[in-house]
Amino acid sequence: MKTAIVGGGAAGFFLAINLKEMMPTMEVTILERSTKLLAKVEVSGGGRCNCTNSFAAIRDLQAVYPRGHRLMKRLMKGFSQRDAYDWFEAHGVRLTTQADECVFPLSQDSHTIINCFLAYARRLGIEIRTSEKVTNFEQLADYDFVAVTCGGQPKAEGLQWLADLGHETAQPVPSLFTFQIADEGLRTLMGTVAEEAVAMIPGTKLRAQGPLLITHWGMSGPAILKLSSYAARHLAERQYKAPLAINWLGSKDTEAIALLQATAQRAPQKQIDTIAPEGLTMRHWTYLAGKAIGERATGRWSSLNQKELNRLANALCCDTYEITGRAPFKDEFVTCGGIALEAVNPATLESRHVPRLFFAGEILDIDGITGGFNFQAAWTTAYTVAKAIANY
Ligand SMILES: Cc1cc2nc3c(=O)[nH]c(=O)nc-3n(C[C@H](O)[C@H](O)[C@H](O)COP(=O)(O)OP(=O)(O)OC[C@H]3O[C@@H](n4cnc5c(N)ncnc54)[C@H](O)[C@@H]3O)c2cc1C
Repeated sequence: MKTAIVGGGAAGFFLAINLKEMMPTMEVTILERSTKLLAKVEVSGGGRCNCTNSFAAIRDLQAVYPRGHRLMKRLMKGFSQRDAYDWFEAHGVRLTTQADECVFPLSQDSHTIINCFLAYARRLGIEIRTSEKVTNFEQLADYDFVAVTCGGQPKAEGLQWLADLGHETAQPVPSLFTFQIADEGLRTLMGTVAEEAVAMIPGTKLRAQGPLLITHWGMSGPAILKLSSYAARHLAERQYKAPLAINWLGSKDTEAIALLQATAQRAPQKQIDTIAPEGLTMRHWTYLAGKAIGERATGRWSSLNQKELNRLANALCCDTYEITGRAPFKDEFVTCGGIALEAVNPATLESRHVPRLFFAGEILDIDGITGGFNFQAAWTTAYTVAKAIANY
């Protein structure tokens, strides 16, 4: 029996190794279009490879898998983050969990994972063919099973040969990018970080909390990356032009008003723009106060009227900007969209249209936020397929 695995990335290697371990007699071949194997694993996590997450802080999988959370919940019963952790340790990759629950190789080097995969593939006799681009199903006619693990396809054309076989697809759009914001005032705050910010798309339920970094092109940081993931389709449909509101303190309006009133009582004779609320730098506060009440920001706290107080609270809790585009860098990490989940059997990830054809990894319409969730999806789906082929 022969299995072809299309794509020599994270999911492809994990699938190949697990299948060969479950079924040593299976002939397994990886077909990789480029000359480089595991290219994304190498650059992932800044070269350290954030290979999974403890999930200890996750109550609802939807928060980390904007697409595919239900399927991930089901499949992780068969291969969880704990299983992935144990798998790597059992295969010689010592791991470490950071305080933020992200898991990395103890070596802090993605090559530890690459070397593990390459060594096991060699030891198990997995055939690896590079410069083998698969563009139609006929190329795979010699194989008994086929697993497509060719990753996120940024363009719909990359999915065409699979769509031609009857598979439903979800239009691919980028996820995990930073926002371009044309605002000269904001640019003066370059380098400023708000630790507990909430970024929101007004008029929608799309919102994300976390550290936010002001950059020379706009905004970045975990809150923005997370929001870009939640809003991947919404923003794509609007050509990346949309309003954005920031709650800089992550607090309610009423709490912000109480905070400002307390400052006014504590330091009535001080200048408004010289006492920053906790959590904001002075530069940031001076900018926000000026934006909210103009020259009155240089007045005394005791002179603030209710209207000005409300405006300051609004600048803290609902400061609005316009997203003018995605950042000018190619910093997308994942593709939202791909093979639609209705095209596969949710228990096995076998195609509903072509028997013995399976999908795993980012080619599926499953994607996560940053934190090791995308690799976990690759490990879980690849393991599911390996088991399904072995059980066939
Ligand atoms: C810069 C960067 C950093 C990242 N960091 C992290 C991180 O730290 N943690 C995390 O969880 N996720 C991270 N990700 C996301 C993660 O890398 C992907 O989700 C994961 O690699 C998906 O695995 P995959 O095997 O499905 O696809 P890929 O790793 O993309 O592998 C697909 C392979 O298939 C090959 N291929 C494509 N088409 C064909 C074809 N037609 N024929 C043959 N071969 C083909 C490709 O060349 C590629 O080698 C990062 C992504 C990027 C870009």
